[in-house]
Amino acid sequence: MVRWVIQELGAMCPSRQRLLAWRENPHDAHLRDVGYHVQEARCPICQAELEREG
Ligand SMILES: [Zn+2]
Repeated sequence: MVRWVIQELGAMCPSRQRLLAWRENPHDAHLRDVGYHVQEARCPICQAELEREG
């Protein structure tokens, strides 16, 4: 079940470029889906990506 959710999230992951843009501009309306993906859905793939970028 958990694995299925992660795979689903992985399919919806924003590009690395958008992920970093969202971190720079968390209130940008165009990046709201990225914020949802990371903060609400808590995608582990993208969270790891953000941590790696530091
Ligand atoms: Zn993701």
